[in-house]
Amino acid sequence: MIKKLLDKIFRPRKHTAERENLPHHPPEVSTQHAKKSRPVLGTKKSAKRNSSNKDKAEIITLKKHQIDRDLLSNAAARTIDGLQKAGFEAYIVGGAVRDLLLNRNPKDFDIATDATPEEVNRVFRRSRIIGRRFRLVHVMFGDETIEVSTFRGHHQAEGDSHTNESGRITRDNVFGSLEEDAARRDFTANALYYDPTSQEVLDFHHGFADIRAGLLRIIGKPETRYIEDPVRMLRAVRLSAKLGLKIDPATQAPIAKMADLLQGVPPSRLFDEMLKLFLSGHAIESVNALREQHLHHGLLPMLDVVLEQPMGERFVMLALKNTDDRILSGKSANPSFLFATLLWHEVLAAWATYKAQNNPPIPALHLAMNDVLASQAEKLAIHNRYTATMREIWGLQPRFEQRAGKRPFGLLTHPRYRAGYDFLLLRCESGEVPAELGAWWTTFAEAEGEERAAMLQPDTAPKKRRKRKPKKAVSSTPATS
Ligand code: ATP
Ligand code: MG
Repeated sequence: MIKKLLDKIFRPRKHTAERENLPHHPPEVSTQHAKKSRPVLGTKKSAKRNSSNKDKAEIITLKKHQIDRDLLSNAAARTIDGLQKAGFEAYIVGGAVRDLLLNRNPKDFDIATDATPEEVNRVFRRSRIIGRRFRLVHVMFGDETIEVSTFRGHHQAEGDSHTNESGRITRDNVFGSLEEDAARRDFTANALYYDPTSQEVLDFHHGFADIRAGLLRIIGKPETRYIEDPVRMLRAVRLSAKLGLKIDPATQAPIAKMADLLQGVPPSRLFDEMLKLFLSGHAIESVNALREQHLHHGLLPMLDVVLEQPMGERFVMLALKNTDDRILSGKSANPSFLFATLLWHEVLAAWATYKAQNNPPIPALHLAMNDVLASQAEKLAIHNRYTATMREIWGLQPRFEQRAGKRPFGLLTHPRYRAGYDFLLLRCESGEVPAELGAWWTTFAEAEGEERAAMLQPDTAPKKRRKRKPKKAVSSTPATS
């Protein structure tokens, strides 16, 4: 999921890397287990047998739902078409149907089918099965990738499904019927199945009525569903902030007392969910809602500390606002930059401690960065690909203080100058450093030759002395040949 989001934001081209830890297929499955036999519906016939209970759904007709099928992406329409022509059931499912009903542009289109991954793979030449633990198929049309999943069954069913001792589902690989697939989705609004051919929406859990009423309601007993997968609590908060849906009172009630369950979720999954939250274009509302629901403690150690310091809070909120504005206006937002902002006040605090212990400023900064990243790594698994850039952005900050001699020219040509400068402006705006410093860099970067030189401050830094090289000692022993 998260790759899809990032691809959307950073690259117009879709990336088709393997994504095993889909949120609705809770992760942490050992390959060893996955290799055990599972009730894979190997033939079309057996898959069909399992999916024959759509009569249990309420059918929402075109007249009622008014979804314009031309809003489907070309790839989604062709994938559905291919599967149906091959004799399978295929529906647009999840977020896309919900978004269409809310008159929003779906981020991507997911498809659910009664065809097994192998069968889907056989229907489409450009497709591949991904994930060992949760086998899905990526179908490629041009540069669009559609994710096709086979209906999943009840995790209590016999088969390749497991829960850990606290009841959290750690493996969920049992294929099932359409009705079962709907029951294991998280919210009623996310369990609607749209068939663009018949133009009907199948609704097993009154999702259509809930969407119309502006409600986000969990399917089944909230406590049980949060025990199975605590990330659903975060999803409730994120989706309600993003979609402007109210969390239904019964769905909301147990969240505060069950928030601790999030401690047991693997950090990499939390990280993915956080990234989705921060890059949703509604980060401010989401973070505020997390705080109201007491979900931010421990989950976001960076926020825990930072939101309790007035300066840190101001800085983080400015950074989130900035990211929201960029995303909502269709611009890209860099996760490294965002995480660098979230952790900056932790770095500042650690930096001050190291300086107080008589470490020179720059080595002290590097020690502080190491500490902060190491403590986050345990809790939030920030991927390495982000930490390198975060270090660069932080590492540039002291260089903005140097406004004499040749140094400012060097900084302007640094590959991360722009990110470093944007970061500096946020620091100015939050009141951490004087606004004049940011303004100076804005003018300096835009100024031309002499004007620029005139802006430089007198160079008062002590000149670096070159150490004299010790004279080579003349060898007293004659060279031998
Ligand atoms: P977004 O628009 O942010 O992508 P989404 O609802 O589409 O929201 P995805 O993570 O793309 O979120 O998940 C797709 C679908 O998978 C959901 O709509 C829901 O039906 C199901 N799903 C996702 N996560 C869970 C979960 N933790 N438990 C149960 N079902 C889930
Ligand atoms: Mg989605």
